[in-house]
Amino acid sequence: MVYLDNNATTPIDPTVAEKMSQFLKEHFGNPSSLYPIAREVKEMITEAREIVAKAIGASRTEIVFTGSGTESDNFAIRGVLDALPEKNEFITSTIEHPAILQTANYLEKKGIKVTYVPVDKFGTVDVNFLKNAITPHTALISIMLANNEIGTIQPIEEISQIAKEKGILLHTDAVQAFSKMEVNVNKLGVDLLSMSAHKINGPKGVGALYIRKGTNIWPLIYGGHQEREMRAGTENTAGIIGMGEAVRIIKESGDKDIKRIEKLAEKLKRGIEDNIPKVKFNGHEKKRIKATLNFAFFGLEAEAILLALATKGIYVSTGSACSEGSEDVSHVLDAIGLKPEVARSCIRFSLGRFNTEEDIDLVLNELPDIVKKLREISALDIDEDD
Ligand code: PLP
Repeated sequence: MVYLDNNATTPIDPTVAEKMSQFLKEHFGNPSSLYPIAREVKEMITEAREIVAKAIGASRTEIVFTGSGTESDNFAIRGVLDALPEKNEFITSTIEHPAILQTANYLEKKGIKVTYVPVDKFGTVDVNFLKNAITPHTALISIMLANNEIGTIQPIEEISQIAKEKGILLHTDAVQAFSKMEVNVNKLGVDLLSMSAHKINGPKGVGALYIRKGTNIWPLIYGGHQEREMRAGTENTAGIIGMGEAVRIIKESGDKDIKRIEKLAEKLKRGIEDNIPKVKFNGHEKKRIKATLNFAFFGLEAEAILLALATKGIYVSTGSACSEGSEDVSHVLDAIGLKPEVARSCIRFSLGRFNTEEDIDLVLNELPDIVKKLREISALDIDEDD
């Protein structure tokens, strides 16, 4: 199997799985209880929190564990808007993940004014547009750090300067960025930042929200005293310990893994561009997560390529997993100006820590032939004047 859909999810690191399995066998205490078998679980959670905090330049008390990246995004946005009832405007971009866009949709139904900042053809947000959209009623700006479909990295530092000047809180969805680039909350200048464990070779169903000390935010989930009363509910203890371990492994490897994966991705990119005619690379050439490659294959339906690759044991995606199966074309590809028929021909290859040189060689061996054969039987126009 050649798994090139790491932006959808990643295989769990065996070390993480082992740590979780051992934890589940040996510990069942409720971290809120006071006797030793519970206190030791609490300490292990604290250790995981410390690892996650340190990895992004935060302090331990600024990390709240959640149930997913989606929950972190919901929490950040709804929590800030709840805490600032006198402000009724929210700014985000057109290329965010549905976790943000559907939350924005919910806010609109509640009477909040939402401004969607457009992007250019490379998927970079229009910072001037964003600046002009700010009013005294703006409560929060949320712009993702790296896009899940095309990998474009957003100018968060620049946006942070603008937000600071105007005294507005800034959230970034770093679910796809963390582990693939440096993520430091102070360098970025953000007040809130979302993470998810299953995108970084950790377990599913656990995420984290960084909340800068002093940020005015209300909880999303009410109940017990867990997570300093910011996220009630008995903790997903094994998940949190697994997330801590996944982050520890990433930090331990430094940028060694990042560099290796980037090299493989570059080989794949060049191989596609050199060996397959009539393709178009989507995203920013430089300011992007190198491990994410999105290509249009003119004249083809992406599903046909995906299925043909799957018969060879190669797994890719036609866009974000969340929009798969829906009739609409990807909102990200639409936002960067692709015609619907071109957007429908796009394949995302997303690499991860367990990919090898042989994986890339196999794809480059199979893909040109698959594309050639499909084009021979395709009735679609192959023009690339877009
Ligand atoms: N944000 C981005 C940019 C994502 O890519 C994803 C997952 O695809 C999420 C949020 C949601 O994370 P989770 O699957 O942990 O809910």
